[in-house]
Amino acid sequence: KLSPFERSKYLYALARMIQKNSRFLSVLETIDNGKPIRETRDIDIPLVARHFYYHAGWSAKDTSSKNKPIGVVGQIIPWNFPLLMAAWKIAPALAAGCTVILKPAEQTPLSALRLTEIINDSGLLPKGVLNVITGLGEEAGAPIASHPDIDKVAFTGSTEVGKLITKASAGNLKKVTLELGGKSPAIVFPDADIDAAIQGVASGIFFNHGQTCCAGSRLFAHEKVYDKVTEGVAEIAKSIKVGPGMNDKDGSQMGPLVSNEQYEKVVGYMESGKQDGAECLVGGTHDNSNGGHFVHPTVFSKTNADMKFVQEEIFGPVLTTQKITDDDLNSIASEANNTEFGLAASVWSKDISTAHKMAAKIKAGTVWINCHNVFDSALPFGGYKQSGNGREMGFECMDNYLETKAVTVNL
Ligand code: NAP
Ligand code: MG
Repeated sequence: KLSPFERSKYLYALARMIQKNSRFLSVLETIDNGKPIRETRDIDIPLVARHFYYHAGWSAKDTSSKNKPIGVVGQIIPWNFPLLMAAWKIAPALAAGCTVILKPAEQTPLSALRLTEIINDSGLLPKGVLNVITGLGEEAGAPIASHPDIDKVAFTGSTEVGKLITKASAGNLKKVTLELGGKSPAIVFPDADIDAAIQGVASGIFFNHGQTCCAGSRLFAHEKVYDKVTEGVAEIAKSIKVGPGMNDKDGSQMGPLVSNEQYEKVVGYMESGKQDGAECLVGGTHDNSNGGHFVHPTVFSKTNADMKFVQEEIFGPVLTTQKITDDDLNSIASEANNTEFGLAASVWSKDISTAHKMAAKIKAGTVWINCHNVFDSALPFGGYKQSGNGREMGFECMDNYLETKAVTVNL
């Protein structure tokens, strides 16, 4: 019932509270998730604050009297960017005037709990507007998806659970938005700035240990540059320092995977790739002997679309690579699109015309040209095909939390 201006004021204040607590939140996030402190400190938490600033703007600017908050919103999030995923969900919902029930992943609930404490202690939001429920997906998540008094559910996680949420939501036909998995291609043309492409492809897959829904996990490089690109990415893979996330002084650039379950899954995919005849160029090694789930950055060659680990989402630091042998853009696109997913892609070329033609042919919600994993709160993000439906960020995201009402007056 707050006015848009008041909502906006709360959200700006929240953004400032997050900045004030950023050191604490980034340490908590690294301890919980395992990712290097330099990433939580310089990437995750600053992006969280920016997301609240961005949505604070929207609530005051949306003056349309025909837009109404959708109501009580259930939000279920994963462990790969715990607080950032919470921000992507909470900020637009509050900006729209909804109330929120958020369920973080059991692996990483700490930062969302701390954020709620900070908000409660500050007295910024009226009581009951933001609620966090912890627990396992089946016990705490499924009831949100099926609850008759929840008007909307927003989910980020696996495609498998996304399908369960959709089914569970049918009882009261609540509105559903889904941000699911990916198997994003990085396509390198022979005219690309090859050094930039090597850097970009490497960070596209290795950022956040490959535990990123839009990770560029399938490299397609033109045969003229394939060797140079794969060797370059392999060199970078070798140089990445893997170690405990809190070891900033020793310069850990990649931490452990989030859990033993995830470790087993990623190692299993590497084994399945080898069994299917793929060749490991670098990495392929892993170690969980000291309680950390470390997997070294890995690059495979001799991979093709028939292999299980080329089709399924690995969600680890593992790149598969294929040669482009045909200059026809349609055939390149059909290889890149040969997946059930459609979240993102990157295209590497100096020719603006090639890059745009390719972008148009890729079935994905995000196409990056000469970059990968670039995000901005103003840019809508979401999937084609089984990567989900709806968009987060940008004004498109506000649509997820608003109903449009037409009131006609007979004067
Ligand atoms: P997940 O099982 O899809 O979990 C995501 C969230 O959904 C968690 O909060 C989870 O709770 C909850 N959940 C699980 N089962 C549920 C159910 N039946 N009803 C309602 N909520 C439920 O993902 P995960 O197990 O963490 O990871 C598995 C795979 O998902 C990964 O290997 C990766 O491929 C993919 N993934 C994708 C993204 C992405 O950003 N697109 C992010 C993370 C994972 P609990 O975990 O607390 O039980
Ligand atoms: Mg799970």
